[in-house]
Amino acid sequence: MNILFVGAHPDDIETFAGGTAARYHGRGDNIFFCVVTNGNVGSSTLPPDEIAAIRFEEAKAGAAVLGAELIWLDFDDEFLFDSRESRLAFINAFRIADPDIVFCHWINDYNPDHSLSGYIVDECIHMAGIPNIRTNKPPIDKIPLVYFMDTIAGINFEPELYVDITETFSTKVEMVKKHNSQNKWMKDLFGYEMKDFLEIPAKFRGLQAGVKMAEAFKPSQRWGRTFTRHYLPDCLEPLKFNKKCKR
Ligand SMILES: [Zn+2]
Repeated sequence: MNILFVGAHPDDIETFAGGTAARYHGRGDNIFFCVVTNGNVGSSTLPPDEIAAIRFEEAKAGAAVLGAELIWLDFDDEFLFDSRESRLAFINAFRIADPDIVFCHWINDYNPDHSLSGYIVDECIHMAGIPNIRTNKPPIDKIPLVYFMDTIAGINFEPELYVDITETFSTKVEMVKKHNSQNKWMKDLFGYEMKDFLEIPAKFRGLQAGVKMAEAFKPSQRWGRTFTRHYLPDCLEPLKFNKKCKR
């Protein structure tokens, strides 16, 4: 299968779904990382062009861990809007990846680039198959499934499905570490260590799903999108009761 991940900023895909991407990679699926904005405000010391160039190289390195194809949309960081230009760029990215599945941000995450990029994916994915919507690439012939990724710290996100990332967590860390410019900046901004930022949610979501570490998702339920849980690697559901409890 072709699996497309759409992240608002250069390190988002690795942070929110890197372990799952590694599991797809392990199955032999084709992986695409679409990064919507160029991260050009992601520094307190470097000017926009310089930090954007650094982050482009970091994004390439992160994607390269899985041999993923990087699709770089190059919108300004924190200034993504739902416009004709952005929709066409997203639709063209869908056509490049020709995905069976698309992962994107939850539509009510903490950051406008996150929420809006998730919204544009969910609203526009079916347009990738419409011939009269012209982009550089030809239309695709299927409507991909859409899954929303977890939010930062899991706030405002009630997962419906999980992927066990116990075996791929170290790969996820390796990928996030490629975004070296962000580690100190994020600590200054939010006060957390990168290791904790990845490990605590992974263990918390793992606790919910009955495994050591997990990433959490929910499917976009819309017309034409069925069989939602079967496409996730060894998909898990929330533990709703104690396994020892007899019913
Ligand atoms: Zn982000």
